[in-house]
Amino acid sequence: MIKKVLSALFRKPATKKSFTKSGEFVPVSESYRGKIIFDPDLCIGCLLCTRTCPTGAIKITENKKVTFELDKCIFCGQCKENCPKNAIDFSSDFLMVSRNREEIKTSVN
Ligand code: SF4
Ligand code: SF4
Repeated sequence: MIKKVLSALFRKPATKKSFTKSGEFVPVSESYRGKIIFDPDLCIGCLLCTRTCPTGAIKITENKKVTFELDKCIFCGQCKENCPKNAIDFSSDFLMVSRNREEIKTSVN
């Protein structure tokens, strides 16, 4: 037991740091699904994304205000996959931690 604890103390962490030595974010793969990007000019309000979202993270009002509640999002990619106008995409931004739920919503009029 003590041997395991001591070896864990000196082992490299299994996780990677968010920043490189130069202070930039570590690069992520092209297929990484980070914070959602939404283009309101492409959206036709068909509601397909809301119907395919398994967690109910997408809300669209009558005046086409789309809100992605990222605290509910599991980044499955279904919304992007099913959007007929390619209005939804994923960024490489992985910093979405907040104590305030309002701060992690992607909302566009
Ligand atoms: S990635 Fe999945 S969970 Fe997140 S908003 Fe799109 S469909 Fe919903
Ligand atoms: S599926 Fe695409 S076009 Fe349809 S409402 Fe959602 S974002 Fe807009």
